[in-house]
Amino acid sequence: MIRVPILMYHSVTDSPNEETKPHSVRPSDLDEQLAYLAESGFTPLTLGDLVARLNKINGVELPGKPIVLTFDDGYADFHTKALPLLERHAFPATVFLTSGWVADAGKDAAGRPLDDMLSWTQAREAAQTGIEIGGHSHSHPQLDQLPGEELRQELRRNKGLLEDKLGTPVATMAYPYGYSSARVRREVRKAGYFAACAVNNTIAADGHDVLAIPRLTVARHTTISMFKKAVEGTAVPLIYLRERILTKGYAVVRRTRYGLQRVRGNV
Ligand SMILES: [Zn+2]
Repeated sequence: MIRVPILMYHSVTDSPNEETKPHSVRPSDLDEQLAYLAESGFTPLTLGDLVARLNKINGVELPGKPIVLTFDDGYADFHTKALPLLERHAFPATVFLTSGWVADAGKDAAGRPLDDMLSWTQAREAAQTGIEIGGHSHSHPQLDQLPGEELRQELRRNKGLLEDKLGTPVATMAYPYGYSSARVRREVRKAGYFAACAVNNTIAADGHDVLAIPRLTVARHTTISMFKKAVEGTAVPLIYLRERILTKGYAVVRRTRYGLQRVRGNV
C-alpha cells in the first residue's frame, strides 16, 4: 500500500484579502511546516515525479517518506513568499495555475482572479528552480457544470497556454474547487493529463484513481500540531494509486514531451 500525504496550499501571505484569507497560510507557518518535514525525514516530490516514480520510470523508486506539496491558483505570493522558503529547504512543489488569471494574461484573461497573481515570467522562474507547473483550468469554473465543448476548451486552452508559455509539458492538474465527475475525468484524460487532484480531506477509498487524488488542506487555522498529526498518518489521505492507469497515462505524457521537442527542433 502506498501512503502519500498530498498537501494543498493556496495563498502564502501575512496580509490576505477577505476572499483568500480562510485558505491562506502565513509565511512563518509554512516555514515551520517545511522545517518539520525536513527534520522528520520526508522527501518532497512534485506530483509528476511521484507518478513517474510509482511507475518506476528510469528505475527510480519512491523514497521512504514521500510527500507532495501543491499550491492552487497561482498567487503572486507563491513567487515572493513561498518560493524562497522552498528553495531554502531545497523542496520541490507543484503549482496548479489558472491561465486566464495570470497577471499579464492580456487577451487570454478570463474569470475573476481573487488576488494578485503570478506573471508568466514569475511562473517560468519558478519552473526553472524545479517547481512543477500543473493545470487548474483556464478561467476557474466548476468543471462538472460545463457542457462538453466548454469543458474541453477549459482544459485544452489551459494546458496549451501553459506548455506554450513555459516551454515544458504539462501533465498534471487540479480541479477548481475540487469538483469533478466521471465525465470531467474522461475529458481530463483525453486532454493529455495523467494525474489530477481533488480536494477532499477524507481517506481515499479504493475507487479513487490517479485522476481524483485526494489532498489534505493546509490553511490559516492549521496549527503545527494538526499539521504533524495529518502528515504522520492519523488524518492523512491514503491513496491507492492504480498502476494500470498510471502506465497508460504516462505514455501520453511521453508522446507529448516528444511532440514538443520535435516542434522546437531539439530531437
Ligand atoms: Zn482554485
